[in-house]
Amino acid sequence: MTPPPGDLSKIQEILLGGTKFLLTSHARPDGDSLGSQLALGRALSQLGKDVRIVNKDQIPELYHFLPGLETIEILPETDSLVDAVVVLECSSLSRTEVSGLNSETIVNIDHHPGNTMYGTINWVDESACACTELVFELIEGLGAELTPDIATNLYVGTLTDTGSFRYSNITARTFEICRRLAETGIDLAAIAASVYTNGSIGRLRLTGRLLDRMKLEHNNQIAVLSVDSAMLQEIGCDWDDMEGIVNLPLAARNVRVSILVRETNAGLRVSLRSKTGTNVRNAALAFGGGGHINAAGLTIEKPGPKSLDTIISRIKFAISDSEE
Ligand code: AMP
Ligand code: MN
Repeated sequence: MTPPPGDLSKIQEILLGGTKFLLTSHARPDGDSLGSQLALGRALSQLGKDVRIVNKDQIPELYHFLPGLETIEILPETDSLVDAVVVLECSSLSRTEVSGLNSETIVNIDHHPGNTMYGTINWVDESACACTELVFELIEGLGAELTPDIATNLYVGTLTDTGSFRYSNITARTFEICRRLAETGIDLAAIAASVYTNGSIGRLRLTGRLLDRMKLEHNNQIAVLSVDSAMLQEIGCDWDDMEGIVNLPLAARNVRVSILVRETNAGLRVSLRSKTGTNVRNAALAFGGGGHINAAGLTIEKPGPKSLDTIISRIKFAISDSEE
């Protein structure tokens, strides 16, 4: 889907015409949400704008190397005394989990299918591999300079949302943008090392424990990993250390879908990942969640003894529906 041509230019007009902006994204931030916000924040500051970035949740340690990270305010609510609120990489306004986002102008920039189009202006392009791809285009359109700090943030969003350039959402455009980012002189290997080879020993032990206890269903096509806070405590980890572990079972040839179940105070948080050809988004939607075709999630606030079985049944259905 190419963006309706009016939207990008309208967003540029709003950003160039105003002076004060508030940027936000979804709760439980990831590389794409942080990279998108920090890159756009820096570009707007460069243009002399007054920018605040407000997020609901603490930033996972893994992302503490991102330039400008200290500028993010962690708040459950905010005022919106700004010319526009810009919501990046967020499929619905409620997923920000920040209250008080009631500016007259809300700009919605995202790449999730099923975005609820909550903005006064919506630029939703499902064909973008990451929201950072859209932010790159926006920054260019604004005439801001692509500095190494901005490039680092954009690269991290792209690297993480494409599973290190492995998912079907990558295109020639992804690499064209990365070429431009690389030209700023950023150290691509150092960035990848910060993301992928800088975890804690606890995380490594947790990975071992989870894989050791992995359950396989449906002729080894479905892998289920389960974790609760007692396990984390015993190993000396926290929820942040879980980042990316859900993808590991997909390394096996037969596994088509990986399910990670987190038993938290807020209920069962379930992450779904699948190989190309199997759609887990519809399964997530069936339980009130959402996401992408190969990476989706849902939360069951009041789980019962059969909750997981019901999800697995729905995943079996998704597998039988897979393209061969
Ligand atoms: P996660 O497994 O939490 O990394 O999420 C994978 C994808 O699913 C992301 O694109 C999220 O935006 C989406 N997602 C996760 N949980 C939910 C939810 N409860 N509702 C809607 N989308 C979700
Ligand atoms: Mn994304």
